Amino acid sequence: MLIKGGVTMREIVNVKELNFSYGNKRVLKNLNLTIHQGEIVGLIGENGAGKTTLLNILLGLLPADQEIKVFEGKPGQKKARQKIGSMLQGDIVLANVTVTEMLHEAAAQYFRSKNVTELLQELNLQKQADQLLTNLSGGLQRRVTFALALIGNPELLFLDEPTVGMDAQARKMFWQRIQALRDLGKTIVITSHYLEEIQQTADRLFILQKGKFVFQGTFQELQNKDKRTIIHFKTKLAIKNFQKLTAVVAATQLEDWIDLVSDDGDATLRSLVPFLEEINNVSIQRESLENIFLKMTNRMETLA
Ligand code: ADP
Repeated sequence: MLIKGGVTMREIVNVKELNFSYGNKRVLKNLNLTIHQGEIVGLIGENGAGKTTLLNILLGLLPADQEIKVFEGKPGQKKARQKIGSMLQGDIVLANVTVTEMLHEAAAQYFRSKNVTELLQELNLQKQADQLLTNLSGGLQRRVTFALALIGNPELLFLDEPTVGMDAQARKMFWQRIQALRDLGKTIVITSHYLEEIQQTADRLFILQKGKFVFQGTFQELQNKDKRTIIHFKTKLAIKNFQKLTAVVAATQLEDWIDLVSDDGDATLRSLVPFLEEINNVSIQRESLENIFLKMTNRMETLA
């Protein structure tokens, strides 16, 4: 059960002991997961980890025998489909069809669809309204695919590598839209290789490695497992005063600035206390999702 702002959020997706194979190749192994209303879940993993397969199962595009509930029904059932928007990898680019025509066609499939003109405005795609899909750049095609995911006014969104091909400006706007959708209480499952963006946006992370979940939780929880910290400060003292402090694994100096890389930030900070009079402008940087993820992946490779 998830409680947000004093309100109990209902379960939207529930998966128990999911296994999936393509022929003899087992790609999902005993996956358990629950997603609550209003959550933004970042699904991350290396290429081939099984992310797309999982999304396709939740959408009902691949069969699964195990117990899976999406909006209290089986994936792919009509009731669930009306409430779900998805943006899978690859864009549908039909010949001789304009952006508006495509969106009207898609809107007709939903009971509660959004107004096409308003949606184009929201996504800053007015200029492309009458352009042929085939004439759009890759980044714009991706944005039209995002519009298609939103046209049915979904409660739950599955977004698989949504920002591929978008330039920096378009990516920024995309993440702003995601924040706006969060404010509307939408539930979003998103995969992306831009881990910095996932780190900033996702309420919870699911890390998939070789078909298994190796972590489910908030970024803070993940970061707390990795105590590596960089402590940056200014001092007139020589670097040798700091190299042997508790948990310091590397120390570098550039003019008056020193960077200490520590395996345990709290322990190193405590051992810095005697120097406090002579250091200033201290900043402390914890590991990013990207670095933690890379370390986890390398460790898995070493163990394999
Ligand atoms: P991800 O989205 O994390 O990159 P996928 O779900 O696409 O991972 O793939 C998981 C594994 O399943 C990979 O080893 C991939 O090669 C394999 N795979 C994906 N689709 C098929 C398919 N249609 N037939 C056989 N193997 C597949």
